[in-house]
Amino acid sequence: MADEECDYLFKTVLIGDSAVGKSNLLSRFAKDEFYLDTKPTIGVEFAYRNTKLGDKIIKAQIWDTAGQERFRAITNSYYRGALGAMLVYDITRNETFEHVRKWLQELREFGDPDMVVVLVGNKSDLVDLREVEVEDGQKLAEVEKLCFLETSAKENVNVEDAFLQMITKIYKIA
Ligand code: GDP
Repeated sequence: MADEECDYLFKTVLIGDSAVGKSNLLSRFAKDEFYLDTKPTIGVEFAYRNTKLGDKIIKAQIWDTAGQERFRAITNSYYRGALGAMLVYDITRNETFEHVRKWLQELREFGDPDMVVVLVGNKSDLVDLREVEVEDGQKLAEVEKLCFLETSAKENVNVEDAFLQMITKIYKIA
């Protein structure tokens, strides 16, 4: 896949607290799979997916922290050259939403100022466990001028849309 022909290659990154569902969102988008267990994590991982926009083929290279966020070990190289970021929180854990601002600060510190950021509230299937209201996500996104969606990697709701919004917006800016 990596050497398939494409017109553009976009690096994008996944960020957010541990266990919010970043790896599962990525595997859902890249391979349409869902893993119930958190995988053992060493180093950064990434996956590719090609998307057709008009007559252009965009190859998105999507980086996953692979658990590094637990050790606060995400560094410059993770963000370097990234044109888009998907900032994920878990709608069933309020603290992961409260940490969104911390992640935005980190993005501003290390990332390109023009980076496209999509805020994602994941695990929308867990309705009974919800701690963060949709409106809270929307309001924050409005204030911070981000795109916003709620997703379920488990039930494959809005996952494709979230990645495609990011890729399309990068394409329009590029
Ligand atoms: P990461 O640490 O942010 O990469 O999170 P993972 O992708 O490893 O997911 C952490 C846990 O949440 C795993 O047990 C997943 O099965 C679970 N999970 C991820 N996405 C969803 C979702 O949309 N719904 C539900 N119910 N569980 C999810």
